[in-house]
Amino acid sequence: MHERIADLKRLLGEVADLNGALAVLFWDQSTQMPPGGVKARGRQLATLSRLSHERLTSPDVGRLLDELSPFGQDLPYDSDEASLIRVARRDWERATRIPSAFVAELSAHQAATYEVWTRAKEAADFPMVANHLARTVELSRRLADFFPGYDHIADPLIDESDQGATVATLRPLFSELRTRLVPLVKHVGALEPADDSCLKVHFPASEQLAFCTFVQKRIGYDFSRGRRDISPHPFMISFGVDDVRLTVRVREDDLGEALFAAIHETGHALYELGVSPALDGGILAEGASSGLHESQSRLWENIVGRSRAFWTYFFPRLQGAFPVQLGDVSQETFYRAINKVIPSLVRTEADELTYNLHVMIRFDLECQLLEGSLAVEDLPDAWNARYESDLGVVPPTAREGVLQDVHWFQGVVGGSFQGYTLGNVMGAQIYQSALGGRPEIEREIEQGRFDSLLGWLREHIHQHGSKFPPAEVIQRATGAPLGIEPYVGYLTTKYGELYDLGS
Ligand code: ZN
Repeated sequence: MHERIADLKRLLGEVADLNGALAVLFWDQSTQMPPGGVKARGRQLATLSRLSHERLTSPDVGRLLDELSPFGQDLPYDSDEASLIRVARRDWERATRIPSAFVAELSAHQAATYEVWTRAKEAADFPMVANHLARTVELSRRLADFFPGYDHIADPLIDESDQGATVATLRPLFSELRTRLVPLVKHVGALEPADDSCLKVHFPASEQLAFCTFVQKRIGYDFSRGRRDISPHPFMISFGVDDVRLTVRVREDDLGEALFAAIHETGHALYELGVSPALDGGILAEGASSGLHESQSRLWENIVGRSRAFWTYFFPRLQGAFPVQLGDVSQETFYRAINKVIPSLVRTEADELTYNLHVMIRFDLECQLLEGSLAVEDLPDAWNARYESDLGVVPPTAREGVLQDVHWFQGVVGGSFQGYTLGNVMGAQIYQSALGGRPEIEREIEQGRFDSLLGWLREHIHQHGSKFPPAEVIQRATGAPLGIEPYVGYLTTKYGELYDLGS
């Protein structure tokens, strides 16, 4: 049987290598490739996607899994081998339902759509990319239909990125969260917004990036196992446990843009860099779900990166890097500026309190597009109407509206956004448990030390890669199922203190 396991690892290792090569091509497309490369790149991505899919769904893998499944049940449940057999079985069963020709068709379409989207966004011209998006909706529906028996057509797509979540489980979670958050948003929204003008003076890009490097290293990002590039939409990508890269975008008139993207993407990267080396080169060497991934990025970006403790250490150093711009700014003014609450147009720039409202708008619109109750041509109006009713703001153009996020123009429609709010909720619960286990964490953060926090996250979350489904990771790490109380409690305490609520 050990020979069989070695065979399975070898075959799945080839799948992981093909996926790694796909990731390199994708990274290059998003950071370096000239516009002329788009046609060849679309072809290359489609070919590699098809090969990876054919490898995973080969009869050899199916035969090995049939032979190994009974054996896997005798192994300890949380061993790498039993987990590999279990996860490979699920991946294989999902993948065999999707024809390789469809995988290639979708991949080529995605590459073409991404290229059109970058131009459409630049020109703030939704009709330019509308036909591509309509085709994406059609392909997304076809993808969902390879998994018959769903309650809602979005369910199979959600399950792909957040295993176990469905429209039926997410709607009550989102609505409860909304009920608890909206009064807080209204309360704070009625007050004078914080003055964040100290972030909006001129900060040269190269100096911003140098400070990002300093913060990233301090948090624990190892530049000998990663690198940082510039892209229109920040992202993290892994080619293996020792090569995990990220991107940011820089605005010279907004200090927050690159800095918090760097902390956010570093949070994602630390997850992938913390996967057990024993899992490297295999299908388990990645984060367990999009929600868990966001729990890590948003924990670092917000709970840690926008805390008083964090800036107790970093603010004097930030002042040192930008003496002209920040020399006369107090730490308290800066703290309030980076935690300014104001309903806004762009999700990635939204504050912690209103952020989830952006996610819920997208989640509802995705469901409607897939259900067929919303036509693509009506999407910009539906988008703007929801922004007006939920956040009280209307995008001046599609660039700040429906075209702002890359997800629908690079992937599928369905399952793209719920992970962000799941991540916020998970992140607070995880952080609460980490503090319970290692109370010294907050004192260390004030000293610019993160070993205890990162160590706890590695031990309880990162090292396991995708061995366990997300609900199980949360239960194992925190001793409880996912609940919104830690998150609501965190926001209420933080913003209650900032805005003197309830006193
Ligand atoms: Zn993220």
